[in-house]
Amino acid sequence: MATNGSAAMNGKDAKDRSRSPRKELKKDPSKLTEEDLKDGFSAQEIFSSAITKSGYTYDDLICLPGHINFGVHDVNLTTRFSRKITLKTPIVSSPMDTVTESNMAIAMALEGGLGVIHTNLSIEAQANEVARVKKFKAGFIIDPVCVPPTMTLEELDQLKSKLGFTGFPVTENGQMGRPLLGLVTKRDTDFITDRKTRLSAIMTPLSQLVTEKEGIDLKQANETLQKSKKGKLPIITNTNLLVALVARTDIKKNVEFPNATKHPVNKELLVAAAIGTRPADRERVRALAAARVDAIIIDSSQGDSVFQHEMIKWIKKEFPEIQVVAGNVVTKQQAKHLIECGADALRVGMGIGSICTTQEVCACGRAQASAVYNVAKLANLYGVPILADGGISSPGHIVKALSLGAGAAMCGSLLAGTSETPGEYFYSEEGKRLKRYRGMGSIDAMKKGSDDRYFGTTSAIKVAQGVSGTVQDKGSIHRYIPYLTQGIRHGMQDIGAKSVSELQDMLQQGHLRFELRSAAAQREGGVHGLHSFERKLFDA
Ligand code: GDP
Ligand code: 5GP
Repeated sequence: MATNGSAAMNGKDAKDRSRSPRKELKKDPSKLTEEDLKDGFSAQEIFSSAITKSGYTYDDLICLPGHINFGVHDVNLTTRFSRKITLKTPIVSSPMDTVTESNMAIAMALEGGLGVIHTNLSIEAQANEVARVKKFKAGFIIDPVCVPPTMTLEELDQLKSKLGFTGFPVTENGQMGRPLLGLVTKRDTDFITDRKTRLSAIMTPLSQLVTEKEGIDLKQANETLQKSKKGKLPIITNTNLLVALVARTDIKKNVEFPNATKHPVNKELLVAAAIGTRPADRERVRALAAARVDAIIIDSSQGDSVFQHEMIKWIKKEFPEIQVVAGNVVTKQQAKHLIECGADALRVGMGIGSICTTQEVCACGRAQASAVYNVAKLANLYGVPILADGGISSPGHIVKALSLGAGAAMCGSLLAGTSETPGEYFYSEEGKRLKRYRGMGSIDAMKKGSDDRYFGTTSAIKVAQGVSGTVQDKGSIHRYIPYLTQGIRHGMQDIGAKSVSELQDMLQQGHLRFELRSAAAQREGGVHGLHSFERKLFDA
């Protein structure tokens, strides 16, 4: 039996050898074809796998490296956010009340991305946040904190320790846009022992202040500050109403943002804002349009509804110049419906956000890499870009989202905890500096009004589709985004793609190669085998 068996094996072996890898090894290397050198799989092969019937997410995949013939700084991250808006940084901040209000939207646009103001605000407050972004001028504090002349030094001390700066314009009623009466700075307040003294008694009055008139540009303001050797320069109208403040410290900082996302003609920063799909949201759209919003994001966890179809058509008819980002979607059919209603971009992702419990509660959603690849492929036929929304926790995830066809990544948790996000820092018991980060479908956020998105408004029971948590301090967006973009550039350089459009051409032509990673491969690809380690994200 043994002999027969081995004889049979030998026969099979001999037959196999004729088409085995050993034969390929013997091939004359000068005759190797592109086919011989192909490794891994195209995205099409990975995602059309009829055998596994699985959905994949970013961590299931790895991109295979290509050939590098350019430097990391040569990588161009310019990308499409929507039909008409282009970004130099493929990152958008989520419309969440712990992520994006005006400070964040300004910082994101200065860094070449875009911020979406959340909709958990009254119509007036949301429109005001949009207006603050549009009014922003680098170097000018357009909404400085003002104080009234009746304030005591004691009260000012509290304000100073809360806000972290020490120079305040004194105006009638302590409000912005009112007549300027004077300025209080450290030099006026340091040596006064009676902290009950009112500011009117110690401020430097308007008559002794160096000021400039409305309409001055940053260069002129800079010259005046340098000549006068002052720390603050109030900008006023002809009738002494305060319109802005310029701080010497800001002029010393680099106020050049070469990547800034700006309107090509009026140079204002671009900003987006989220709305719901209720009839009352039409009022919101009108207010946002009046504040000159550039894009409206229709915020819905399942975007393929008649309510959203009608809203898209209505906005495109009433305000054709505003870009409409529809969603969220994860399937080709959903995407087709929204594009045919007139969407200028799609937001892709369902139930995969870091704070989200939709898949657990509603049993609906899709693994994110599969959703991004499939929807991007369909949307690309119409020339409509997509945003890969949620589940991004590293620059590598952004590289993967772009590699699967996304125009940009929309991030919540990744950007939460930066100093420009809403909310105050606080310390954990172990002394870690934290900020709150919560899902817009968490009970906390819904109680504040975001229940439209998660269908809780009219029902007696609010079903949570998100959780509330904390994230660690990540410093300023102005240092964090450059870290993320440098990581993305390295990833694209490794792949051999010099630009996002080149990367996506490679994707479509099947030249971009991927492999699936086993659980062990994923472990191997992370930090492992150490007793302990410290993760420092960057050194700048
Ligand atoms: P101060 O001299 O203690 O007021 O502080 P600096 O002028 O050195 O720095 C204040 C920083 O806070 C600058 O970067 C300002 O742009 C920033 N800032 C933001 N909002 C305000 C504001 O309302 N008033 C002032 N004075 N500074 C602000
Ligand atoms: P992250 O970047 O934290 O992984 O995900 C952010 C995204 O999660 C948001 O842009 C939004 O699409 C989604 N999201 C925000 N809040 C909730 C929530 O409470 N529930 C669900 N299902 N998704 C949420």
